[in-house]
Amino acid sequence: MTDRYNPQTVEAKWQARWEETGLYRTERHPGREKFYFLTMFPYPSAELLHLGHWYVMTGSDVGARFKRMQGCDVLFPIGFDAFGLPAENAAIKHGTHPRIYTSHNISRMRRQLRAMGCMFDWSREIVTCDPDYYRWNQWFFLQFFHEGLAYRKFAPVDWCPNCNTTLAREQVVGADRRCERCGTPVTKRDLNQWFFKTTDYAEELLDFSGIDWPERTVVQQRNWIGKSIGVEFAWTTH
Ligand SMILES: [Zn+2]
Repeated sequence: MTDRYNPQTVEAKWQARWEETGLYRTERHPGREKFYFLTMFPYPSAELLHLGHWYVMTGSDVGARFKRMQGCDVLFPIGFDAFGLPAENAAIKHGTHPRIYTSHNISRMRRQLRAMGCMFDWSREIVTCDPDYYRWNQWFFLQFFHEGLAYRKFAPVDWCPNCNTTLAREQVVGADRRCERCGTPVTKRDLNQWFFKTTDYAEELLDFSGIDWPERTVVQQRNWIGKSIGVEFAWTTH
């Protein structure tokens, strides 16, 4: 026995064994309590994961293992949140197609995540830019549409005239409201957009009983739901 711990040999050996026996594949055992653990899926707009990713995932990994040891059927999936402007920006910067750049990053991140030896069920991995995944987004959207919960109307959006794209609120930076990508002053533009009729569910969403959230999160959530029942104002005449 050597006195130094050698992760390359010890961990590789055990990870191969876990893989071989399907130790972390989620199986359903009738009668056992089910438990779903979800960690934030990494965004493959950078080539490598950094310590911050692992900082977030360790807690979930510990929690998932704990519930598993308590005898629950734990589903602890992993995937890659691979759509959107950050992926497009990164691809432009590197001069390659977003699909090529994204899948390259995913395979590197996948290797890193596996090397960390967490108990993800890789047989259920999802990649949000994969048609096998987003066909279900489209399916859900159609259900909303048929129920009248997705509708179109004209509304103002933040628009970058240089990038020719709409921007999310977080992509408009600085007091002088500039595009995060190119620094061009952002304009408002009326566009025909899709909306979800979340107002139909405002009451239901405002019920936080049974949810153990910090007060700050509850306030954010309440503001986001944005229920309003009119305004009160004082009227004075001179
Ligand atoms: Zn721009």
